[in-house]
Amino acid sequence: GITPSIFRNAPDLWRAHWPDYAAGVHKYARGAVAVAAGGLSGVGAPRLGARAALRSGAGLATILCRPEALAAHAGRGPDALMQRAAVDAATFETMLSTGKVDALLIGPALGLDDEARSWVAAALRSNRPCVFDADALTHIGAQRPAFIDLLQRRAAPVVLTPHEGEFKRLFGEVAGFEPALGKLERARHAALDTGGVVILKGPDTVIAAPDGRAAINGTGSPALATAGSGDVLGGIVAGLLAQKMPTFEAACVAVWLHGRAGEQLGSGLIADDLPEALPGLLAELH
Ligand code: AMP
Ligand code: MG
Repeated sequence: GITPSIFRNAPDLWRAHWPDYAAGVHKYARGAVAVAAGGLSGVGAPRLGARAALRSGAGLATILCRPEALAAHAGRGPDALMQRAAVDAATFETMLSTGKVDALLIGPALGLDDEARSWVAAALRSNRPCVFDADALTHIGAQRPAFIDLLQRRAAPVVLTPHEGEFKRLFGEVAGFEPALGKLERARHAALDTGGVVILKGPDTVIAAPDGRAAINGTGSPALATAGSGDVLGGIVAGLLAQKMPTFEAACVAVWLHGRAGEQLGSGLIADDLPEALPGLLAELH
C-alpha cells in the first residue's frame, strides 16, 4: 500500500538534493534540455521554457520545432546559447533515443493537430525524463487510455503540470476525480493513475508523487496569473530534471522558486521576467 505523507513545500524538503558541481564542471555535465515547440502560432512559449531551463542551471537548451517555424525561433531574442533545430516527427523520435537530451519539456504551444499528437506519442515512448504541460496534457486526455498506459509504463521520470482546466480535461471523466474532492486528493489520485509526479497548479499549488508523498506550496503571487507563467514553471522543472535532481524534489523546487519569483517581482510582472529572477533566488539558497 501507499503511505501518504504530506509536507509543506520548503527548502528543507529538497536542499539536500540540490545539484552540486565541482569547479571544473563542463556544460554537458550540467544537462541538456530539449523543448518541443509547435509551428508558427506560438514561438514565445517554448522560448520561455528553454530560457527558464537555462536559468535554473541546465548547461544547454534546444528548441525543437517544425521546419516552418525555424526562422521565427532563430529570429527571436539574444539567447546566443539557445539552439534551434527543425525536425519532423520521425527525426524527433530519433533525437529522443540517440541525441543529447537529458530532459524534455513538451506541450507549451505544441499544437493540437496529428503531427503534435505523434510528437507526444514519441515523448511518451522515449526513455528520457519528460515534463508534460499544456497541449501535451490535452493530447494525453484525448488518447485515453492508450496514452495513460504509455505514461504508466515509463521508467524515466514524468512530471505533469496541469492547471485546473487542463486537469479537468485529463481526468474529468474518470471515476475518482470528482471536483468536490480537495485539490490535494485529486493530485494524489492523478499521480497514482499516471505513475507520474503531478503539479496541480493555481493559487494553492500542490505537488503529488505516486509513492504517496505530497507537498503543499506556500510561495506565490496573483501576479503569476499571466500569459507564459506556466511555461516558465515547466522549463524550471525540465532544467532541474536534466541536472539529475530526483523527480518529486525537482517539481517542489520549481514550484517554490516560481512562486518566490512572483512574490519578488509583484504586480506588473510578465512571464519573461521570471527566468531572470532565478539567479538571485538561487544565490539566496546557497
Ligand atoms: P499557466 O496557467 O499554465 O500559465 O500557469 C500559471 C502559473 O501561475 C502556475 O504556476 C500557477 O500556479 C500560477 N498562478 C496562477 N494564478 C495564480 C494565483 N492567483 N496565485 C498564485 N499563483 C498563480
Ligand atoms: Mg500553461
